[in-house]
Amino acid sequence: TQHLLARVTQHESLGCFLHTDADAALAAAASADARRAAGDGAALLGIPLAHKDIFVTKDMPTTAGSKILANYRSPFDATVLERLFAAGTISLGKLNCDEFAMGSANENSAFGPVANPWDRTRVPGGSSGGSAAAVAARLVPATTGTDTGGSIRQPASFTGITGIKPTYGVCSRYGMIAFASSLDQAGPMARSAEDCAFLLSAMSGFDERDATSVERPPQDFHAQMLQARPGATAAQPLKGLRIGLPLEFFPAALAADVNGAVRAGLAELEKLGATLVDVSLPRTELAIPVYYIIAPAEASSNLSRFDGVKFGHRAAQYDDLLDMYKKTRAEGFGAEVKRRIMIGSYVLSHGYYDAYYLQAQKLRRMIADDFQRCFTQCDLIAGPVAPTVAWKKGEGADDPVKAYLADIFTLPGSLAGLPGMSVPVGFGEGGMPVGLQLLGNYFQEGQLLHAAHALQ
Ligand code: GLN
Repeated sequence: TQHLLARVTQHESLGCFLHTDADAALAAAASADARRAAGDGAALLGIPLAHKDIFVTKDMPTTAGSKILANYRSPFDATVLERLFAAGTISLGKLNCDEFAMGSANENSAFGPVANPWDRTRVPGGSSGGSAAAVAARLVPATTGTDTGGSIRQPASFTGITGIKPTYGVCSRYGMIAFASSLDQAGPMARSAEDCAFLLSAMSGFDERDATSVERPPQDFHAQMLQARPGATAAQPLKGLRIGLPLEFFPAALAADVNGAVRAGLAELEKLGATLVDVSLPRTELAIPVYYIIAPAEASSNLSRFDGVKFGHRAAQYDDLLDMYKKTRAEGFGAEVKRRIMIGSYVLSHGYYDAYYLQAQKLRRMIADDFQRCFTQCDLIAGPVAPTVAWKKGEGADDPVKAYLADIFTLPGSLAGLPGMSVPVGFGEGGMPVGLQLLGNYFQEGQLLHAAHALQ
């Protein structure tokens, strides 16, 4: 903990951390030592972590990367963190992210951008950019992130680390500041699938305080990850595993460097015994407009609670209540958040609801059905996480649509609520890391982790 706290200070210029508390971290480390001395052998006991600043914490401020929550303090801890703390992990602090998790480059944070440790002139991806960069820069061995439309997988890919978004409902959303509630999921980001498995076991599980939490017994994802497949051999641990390659995940426009690294990863999976099969997800391109209707619609509703009355920032001067709302929100929200609130309010408004929101919901179901058809032909689905490697800082700033289009490969799995991973498989242009995306059927986290672990 001492060593990492020093590294965090040394690498402050990366912009990963929004808050740190060295004294609290050292006190937690001392109590973990005491538990260890008393014979406690818990896997995560004494492991230093840091958390995306979208999870509320009672001992530190929580901002969600937004000025509207500057100096906000929650009276409770998010369930996911509560569980990680109970497992004996130490929190080094809170990590920078795009404002309310809206973004793909971590350039939408009210508290400044995060640099990609591989090349500081490039973005780390987003919205969990601080979580990804902190692991990649070895400031902390693992972090928490959230993934609504790719925010664990894409920054993991851009920084050469491993991340998993579990099936929707596996991790509690209680205390995770809501962006798009029907899509938001928490997950771990770490150096390896094995570390992700340890964290996910601790983070996940039923929570009665989240109405969409899945009711099932606690899972040991590490044991599931190690579980040998029937017919597996030492040389071919993935023997019999059918990996589907959706035609639409390898378009002609896919960057050659990304395609090369992904194909190399797939060849590696074949060597390990997996069989590659061609499948199709014909509505892949439609996932972009569908997501960018549903996510802003839900966001416009979720963000209505930030009105200057209950949480965080309130305008200093105003005429009446309505003026207070207006000024607070005008001052507190950044440009991308305002854009999404406007899109969301528009698609939900009378007269447009049927044309946009309802259509999007229907297509969402069809996208989920497409995956179920694929899973009759294969066990896992593989492809790129993103069409390119991490881009240069500032490149996407003036063109939000360009950034939206880059989410093409992560959005279908999100809309379907499926578990997905990013596993580093090589390097592309400028020596930047490339991740392989693996998607599984519902609750197949164990199988995903098993395949990723075999690759590592
Ligand atoms: N890039 C996507 C967006 O901006 C996904 C973000 C996320 O998963 N939180 O909405």
